Amino acid sequence: MVMTGTDTDPLVTIVGGGVHGVHLAVRLLESGLIDLGELRIVDPAGLLESFRRTCRQCGMTEFRSPLVHHVATDPFSLRDFARERGREDELRSTTVGAARPTVSLFFDHAKWVCDRYSLESAHVDARATEIKECRHTVEIETTQDRLSTRWCLLAVGHGRSFTYPTWAIELVSTEPVTHVWEPGFDPDAIGETSSVGIVGGAITAAQLATTLGQLPGRDVMLFARSPFRVETLEASTDWMHFGGAIETLHAHPPASRAREELVAEARYDGTMPPYVFRRLQRALENGHVDLERSEITVATEAGGTVVVTCRDGSAFCLDKLVCATGFGSPYGGALFRQLHQHSTLQTGYRGAPVLDDDTLRWLRRDGTLSRIAVSGVAAQQVLGPFARNVIGARRAGTLIVRSLEAELGAATSEPKP
Ligand SMILES: Cc1cc2nc3c(=O)[nH]c(=O)nc-3n(C[C@H](O)[C@H](O)[C@H](O)COP(=O)(O)OP(=O)(O)OC[C@H]3O[C@@H](n4cnc5c(N)ncnc54)[C@H](O)[C@@H]3O)c2cc1C
Repeated sequence: MVMTGTDTDPLVTIVGGGVHGVHLAVRLLESGLIDLGELRIVDPAGLLESFRRTCRQCGMTEFRSPLVHHVATDPFSLRDFARERGREDELRSTTVGAARPTVSLFFDHAKWVCDRYSLESAHVDARATEIKECRHTVEIETTQDRLSTRWCLLAVGHGRSFTYPTWAIELVSTEPVTHVWEPGFDPDAIGETSSVGIVGGAITAAQLATTLGQLPGRDVMLFARSPFRVETLEASTDWMHFGGAIETLHAHPPASRAREELVAEARYDGTMPPYVFRRLQRALENGHVDLERSEITVATEAGGTVVVTCRDGSAFCLDKLVCATGFGSPYGGALFRQLHQHSTLQTGYRGAPVLDDDTLRWLRRDGTLSRIAVSGVAAQQVLGPFARNVIGARRAGTLIVRSLEAELGAATSEPKP
């Protein structure tokens, strides 16, 4: 890679235009640290489009998080947006805490925020394939062009890393077996009179099963090996306040196995919120979804269908088998693997980036702060179990903007728009 770096280079390039990338962009513009012309957001899917697709793919209709969690900075921005448009009925009440927005309300508000800050004009329609830090710049190779930037904020989510059960791995490229997060998976393309198996026992599997179960003619079977577990949020709210609980995390070395395990223990993975559980119960009661309380051990493709055998000896022939078995390692995506193998940045347990706890900046091997900061699930060893969530984006925004303020020496000024 040829190293460049000119005064016309963008000051800040955000790689990833999901919830985290968009929120970081808003925070930077509102801080007055940079102008729109000094910002790039690189994303091959479009701003927020990848997240919109994942929500659609699993049939999600409502957010799990409260209405104050969204991409803008004013906590009540989404509520006001709903009120002004007569859409309060899209704020769903809850037994605990504040109401939650519907998916369409969340994304309409997010688009309104993007428009308000003209973020589309900063969007670069490309995938970052290689990132290298140089002395005064960060060089980003993309599928379109090479970008040179002073600061790079990595916000790529799980970066297309998701997990299949071992019995499914050989069948992944076959027509009947897929993963709910495969970019090509389209629940609407599952035809009538199809028998569909869904593998998993948590929120995504439950949402997909109930959505498909409502469609006429679909014969839906949920393969869930463990009892369902119900939790309102993805972890205890103690972790949302980024206070005492986070200190216990920071007591361990950065990017260590101890931190990774603490975060894994703190997350209520494999659970579903009460409203999803109730919907699933109703679908099971009225026969829209059947439940197989066993684990698939063998699956074989047979003439466009898949035959599965379970641990309890039962066997089924299905037209489609969709794995809702979760995301892979947050450091398993192509970009993190490239950075792990070829850069001067430190990595730790299972390739986790070694980040500074105060700034989220990736540490170089010599211990100094690099020009690359990380937001999202890959920052979970610093921000804890809510790092990937909308609330995690807010915390990351605070730390990263504060760090750039110190670096750029600019005083916070009035919001730009
Ligand atoms: C179905 C679902 C429901 C969820 N519901 C909630 C909820 O209710 N509340 C909550 O707080 N959290 C929720 N989450 C968790 C979290 O808020 C979301 O995952 C959120 O989308 C994370 O934002 P992100 O920007 O980190 O990642 P993403 O939304 O995945 O965005 C990452 C972006 O990076 C881009 N990208 C990836 N690789 C590259 C590359 N090499 N170059 C350029 N761009 C790249 C992708 O195209 C994508 O647009 C949910 C997650 C899922 C999957």
